[in-house]
Amino acid sequence: MATPTLNSRLQFFVTEYGIFWQFWPQFEQIHGERCLVGFEVELIGSHTSDLNHVDPACPTCRQVRSVLLEIADLMPRDASLSGNSLTYNIDSHSNSIVCLPALGNRSAVWVSIYVFLNRANGQSLETDPLNEVKTFLNRWGIHQR
Ligand SMILES: [Zn+2]
Repeated sequence: MATPTLNSRLQFFVTEYGIFWQFWPQFEQIHGERCLVGFEVELIGSHTSDLNHVDPACPTCRQVRSVLLEIADLMPRDASLSGNSLTYNIDSHSNSIVCLPALGNRSAVWVSIYVFLNRANGQSLETDPLNEVKTFLNRWGIHQR
């Protein structure tokens, strides 16, 4: 599978909406033990510095969300990631807006990508899909916060 080429329109929006990502490990109880089953990558973007901007119907917020979703959809198709037989669930949190202390309480929209490891393959984070996700996002100029 070919690596999707950098798309200048998406690249523009990454800068325009200050898109960045956060990472959360995902645990489950399996046979009474806490096991790492995957991780969540949150893609976050914001189009305004107006602290009072909380309008779930805002068309620009909707556009930010659709850009985040486009990037999320590209991830499983990336060459270095598609070979890993990972499972992806994408949650667009439609109609939700968050206020982020990290952004000075600016309102932002976000999309979650849940990446589940293939435990039947004995896959773990050490086989390092996380690094490949980082590489993928870095290539788009999307940095971790
Ligand atoms: Zn908005």
